[in-house]
Amino acid sequence: MLPTLFVTHGAPDLALHDVPARRFLEGLGASLPRPKAIVSVTAHWETREPMTGAAAHPATIHDFGGFDRRLFQIRYPAAGDPALAERVRNLLRTAGLPASIDKTRGLDHGVWVPLLLMYPDATIPVVPLSIQPDLGPEHHFLVGRALQSLRGEDILVLASGSFTHDLRRFRGQPIDTETPADVAAFAEWFGAALTAGRLTDLLDYRGRAPHAKDNHPTDEHLLPLFVALGAAGPDFHAERLHTSSTYGFLRMDAFAFN
Ligand code: ZN
Repeated sequence: MLPTLFVTHGAPDLALHDVPARRFLEGLGASLPRPKAIVSVTAHWETREPMTGAAAHPATIHDFGGFDRRLFQIRYPAAGDPALAERVRNLLRTAGLPASIDKTRGLDHGVWVPLLLMYPDATIPVVPLSIQPDLGPEHHFLVGRALQSLRGEDILVLASGSFTHDLRRFRGQPIDTETPADVAAFAEWFGAALTAGRLTDLLDYRGRAPHAKDNHPTDEHLLPLFVALGAAGPDFHAERLHTSSTYGFLRMDAFAFN
């Protein structure tokens, strides 16, 4: 059975830099059974209630500025899957969560940067799923719980965010800058809590993890992880698939949940 995944999408220019996180993502797709479709939970689509994208041919969204012009030429032409988008909405509603559909939403860079590296042929249909930045980890865990049945149907739940994400620390430093101690401490705590299955600690990570608010001044880039965690099913088993950093402060870790 497919695991559910959390990956760090990095800065949009990950698609252009030959760094360990990029090489990891390039090998990740081939290491998994091939999914029939992908539900991609993205930190870059913020809505008040969960929304799924139901465009038959979702556009590639270049939702960033100030990066290499080549990035704006990239298209990720995967088809959508309107029927799956509707099904995801229905699963959420059945679980008592409000949810709706956006018939025009495209694929933001949280979706297409990892997919471009994982599945460059873009032949697997993709349904984006939004996050709710004000509703915290537990809500996102419940969103994932509602989607547990997808794993058994060869549908990949791919959560895309960032393991650490204090963008104020970017001051033009080189991509291979050493990781600051507080970034490493937070990432180690969170990774250990995941692999030990300490759900109560994870859901309250902002109160319990060292330097949590320094590494996630706002937590939208970690919220997708909780959807992947919930969608793995009860008694999840977390496996760290990758660890590295870019620009020092951006930990690029990825996890599989079984
Ligand atoms: Zn991002």
